[in-house]
Amino acid sequence: MSMSNEKIPYKIYLEEKDLPKQWYNVRADMKKKPAPLINPGTGKPCTAEELSHVFCDELVKQELDETTPFIDIPQEIQDFYRMFRPSPLVRAYFLEKKLGTPAKIYYKFEGNNTSGSHKLNSAIAQAYYAKKQGLKGVTTETGAGQWGTALSMACAYFGLDCNVYMVKVSYEQKPFRREVMRTYGANVTPSPSNTTEIGRKILEEFPGTNGSLGCAISEAVEAATSKEGYRYVLGSVLAQVLLHQSIIGLESKAAMDKYGIKPDIIIGCAGGGSNLGGLISPFMGQKLRGEADYRIIAVEPASCPSFTRGTYAYDFCDTGKVCPLQKMYTLGSGFMPSPNHAGGLRYHGMSSILSELYDQGLMEATSVEQTSVFEAAEMFARVEGILPAPESSHAIRAAIDEALKCKETGEEKTILFGLTGTGYFDMYAYGAYNDGTMSDYIPTDEEIAKSIANLPKIG
Ligand SMILES: *Cc1c(COP(=O)(O)O)cnc(C)c1O
Repeated sequence: MSMSNEKIPYKIYLEEKDLPKQWYNVRADMKKKPAPLINPGTGKPCTAEELSHVFCDELVKQELDETTPFIDIPQEIQDFYRMFRPSPLVRAYFLEKKLGTPAKIYYKFEGNNTSGSHKLNSAIAQAYYAKKQGLKGVTTETGAGQWGTALSMACAYFGLDCNVYMVKVSYEQKPFRREVMRTYGANVTPSPSNTTEIGRKILEEFPGTNGSLGCAISEAVEAATSKEGYRYVLGSVLAQVLLHQSIIGLESKAAMDKYGIKPDIIIGCAGGGSNLGGLISPFMGQKLRGEADYRIIAVEPASCPSFTRGTYAYDFCDTGKVCPLQKMYTLGSGFMPSPNHAGGLRYHGMSSILSELYDQGLMEATSVEQTSVFEAAEMFARVEGILPAPESSHAIRAAIDEALKCKETGEEKTILFGLTGTGYFDMYAYGAYNDGTMSDYIPTDEEIAKSIANLPKIG
């Protein structure tokens, strides 16, 4: 449902005056809310007081706020956003031509900043609230490295100390990401490390482990809670992160509205769910209020399939079991994704908001194998000119598949997908693909069942 092709430019930018001044909190429009975070000690919902030992006060408030639909973006954050926002909404004319599809494909490109991904949208917000609270610094984990990079940039901007626990395999495979973080002043430690109690315990139990996001989270939380003036910040999964990332969807919707475009299908890759949650939020809001309907598809790696093969239950957010319990689609906090999987998206769980929406049948999920993901990445890079991140390429794969279905049926559907970032630091993975040595890994039912058997017994 759009006007004639000629009128729609290759890139749609918003004008200053149309930029969002508030984030959108999709929970406000959900009749059945996501389940609350639970304190594993008490078995009861976490209170603001309990959460404030781990997270910044204002972020705790946002985390627990299920009813305020719009939350003002502080002026300083709006100003920072001007360095790299609005991000372009691109009509993928070249990809459409290459595919020979009648579908109209759009993507929202979030890779236009040094961190190379959408993560900076939330990093700057979290650093801002930490600074406002008068903290000395923050700790965090990073998997593929984008979140750590984004947080380093945000902390440098506000003069905060930044301690990043980086999953060991990435620390070794992505030395350049590490150096970007150090250039922005962050301390980077490979995880698991012997700098924390939980790290030492994990090393003892799994000697030679490549690490995982779940391990690194445990270390970062311990580092934050054992030091005066520090808090922990997280780059995905949490409701506050989806709130900050709603800027992606709000800008996309405003840009599409400007030209009278309505997407039929909205697609995003899903690791912890923040970019997808952000992209879909205003559209999902319309869907929840009965104003419009969209097909929404989460795309996850076949090697870490939380939505498509996980269980909807309370689980720990980290391997060390120090974080609150969250009800989500999960593969179990002990699930160790295969090290042959290249990109991020290796997290065992999923945003509780997206989990609840998925459980209510308001969105779909699909899983894709990494060689087919890189095939899509290569095609996209060659025709659209952007070298996509492996994570983003999961969404590209699904968008291409939907566009090819349109080619068969002759339907002129409008597809919107999130292009979350660039892949310049993922050249080992591209190398493996180019050399033909990349393999696919699909966990067996037994592996998943074994990990699920260790879910905490709650609710
Ligand atoms: C972190 C990251 C993702 C996945 O994280 P979500 O929280 O699921 O969005 C996807 N793409 C890129 C480029 C990333 O850096």
